[in-house]
Amino acid sequence: MPMPIDVGDKVITKKPHPCGNNEFIITRTGMDFRMRCTKCQKEIWISRVKLEKRIKKIVKED
Ligand SMILES: [Zn+2]
Repeated sequence: MPMPIDVGDKVITKKPHPCGNNEFIITRTGMDFRMRCTKCQKEIWISRVKLEKRIKKIVKED
């Protein structure tokens, strides 16, 4: 079953971004996901398969 990942969710990844941060906000969902680094604000595209492997924790928005 795929992980429930929605726009606005914060994800904590196992591997940090090159800037050293490991918290990202999901900005687009679909076959590929777009997420923004909360430290350097850079947005990256990532496939669902890769993203699910990298996620350590999902923090849902209220
Ligand atoms: Zn970054």
